[in-house]
Amino acid sequence: MKLNTNFNNIKESYLFAEVGNRASAYSKSNPDKNVLKLGIGDVTLPLAPAVVEALHSAVDDMAKQETFKGYGPYEGYDFLRESIRGYYKSFGVNLSLKEIFVSDGAKSDLGNILDIFSKDNAVLVPDPVYPVYVDTNLMAGRNVIYACANEGNGFLPMPEKGVKADVIYICSPNNPTGAAYTKAQLKEWVDYANSNGAVILYDAAYECFITEEGLARSIFQIDGAKTCAIEFCSFSKTAGFTGTRCGYTVVPEELKADGLNANKMWLRRQATKFNGVPYIVQKGAAAVFTERGQREIQQNLAYYRQNAKLIADCMQRLGIWYTGGKNSPYIWLKCPDGLGSWQFFDLLLNGAQVVGTPGAGFGVNGEGFFRLTAFGSREVTQQAVERIENLLRK
Ligand code: PLP
Repeated sequence: MKLNTNFNNIKESYLFAEVGNRASAYSKSNPDKNVLKLGIGDVTLPLAPAVVEALHSAVDDMAKQETFKGYGPYEGYDFLRESIRGYYKSFGVNLSLKEIFVSDGAKSDLGNILDIFSKDNAVLVPDPVYPVYVDTNLMAGRNVIYACANEGNGFLPMPEKGVKADVIYICSPNNPTGAAYTKAQLKEWVDYANSNGAVILYDAAYECFITEEGLARSIFQIDGAKTCAIEFCSFSKTAGFTGTRCGYTVVPEELKADGLNANKMWLRRQATKFNGVPYIVQKGAAAVFTERGQREIQQNLAYYRQNAKLIADCMQRLGIWYTGGKNSPYIWLKCPDGLGSWQFFDLLLNGAQVVGTPGAGFGVNGEGFFRLTAFGSREVTQQAVERIENLLRK
């Protein structure tokens, strides 16, 4: 047998392991110090009560002969897909039920979608970026080119003449930079994709954090997107489902190339390799879209938004350049005094006992930048902000 030698092309991801190692080494030699963690991108608030009730009641359904469920539809139950359709309608996007596919999260679908694309595609990925886009393509032996995100373009790269890409990844609001494209900027990407016969793989995992007018909640708010885009979204950050696992992918019926229909291919792919998301989890996810569910998840989102504001205001007072904080749970800051990402990591750890994530771990352009997250508790966020301010105030 032969193993997939493309795995030689992916770098071991040392980022979170190295962050963890340095933080525990510090705690070991300074047992009296309380280390505050604003590094990971995981939620901390529990599921909304409406979701928990729906989960319990779905467990009861499974316990009774009349309501027991076996295998569900590959593309998800209609009750959840109808709710997702209603959600999109609330921000002006009309979808057919056929276009909505329920999944166990955005990460799996972002990787799995590559099954429907030829190996020969040139793939354009912004740098810095959520590492899944790059690694899934390298594993499959594809060539990856990078769109340069930097301070100059506010970490929102735009299409460049002369760059030929077939598959384009866009994540907005972005992980790690927190930057979010305006509808006008996305229109330029959609026009570029349509005129080059390219597809945009649009990661909307953080759309629920958008509050400002003019920013897109979905790529399908942009005219022309249905012929050139696939959208990935998730209940993970919207409703605290990181451990419960549920997401959805929208593949428009109009997305076609080489006489093939991407929507039909994705259904075929899912039917072959995926047996659906548990009924119980889908019931919990559907509760997110009820009036009560929306009210409750908005309370959680407001809590994280307030954390983000505390961090962003601190950067503002310190005169540190940053993106995100608004419309995003991430604050992406420029390390002061020309420090490198890891130098700043050590400075914050040793000087303020605060752990964040070095930007260099997200790509070459991340060097000299640093990510803090709003997903911690209010208490930890407040303390961390005070300590950072004391350390960096000149
Ligand atoms: N996309 C982005 C940009 C993310 O940051 C994450 C998780 O952190 C995901 C997708 C994964 O989402 P899920 O939990 O639905 O797999």
